[in-house]
Amino acid sequence: MAEFKLQGSGGYIIADLTEEQAKKADLGVGKLFLAPIGKLEEQKMSKHYCKNCESEFSNSPKIRLEENTNEQVADNLILVERGQYTCQQCSSIIGEYRVFKKQDESSDIGNARPSQ
Ligand SMILES: [Zn+2]
Repeated sequence: MAEFKLQGSGGYIIADLTEEQAKKADLGVGKLFLAPIGKLEEQKMSKHYCKNCESEFSNSPKIRLEENTNEQVADNLILVERGQYTCQQCSSIIGEYRVFKKQDESSDIGNARPSQ
């Protein structure tokens, strides 16, 4: 586990990520992004910065579940949950998350890595 700064549309979040999550967040432009990771647990996030408040807070943002869905977005890929990370102070949106599930879970096992 290491701490990373993750960019969202309305600020950033400092969170502990596994190597695998960090790879997902790295879109190759020298910054890491929140959106590709999926949902982060509240206890993994240690700080958040809100553009609206123009300040960094020493706690996790709020997690706001927008929708539980079961939308098939591609062959074998289902969007199960969608939501936002919001500022503790003013509730503006820091970033968004989406949780996907592969329909055929067994195809994922070969790629699984132990988390650190
Ligand atoms: Zn704020």
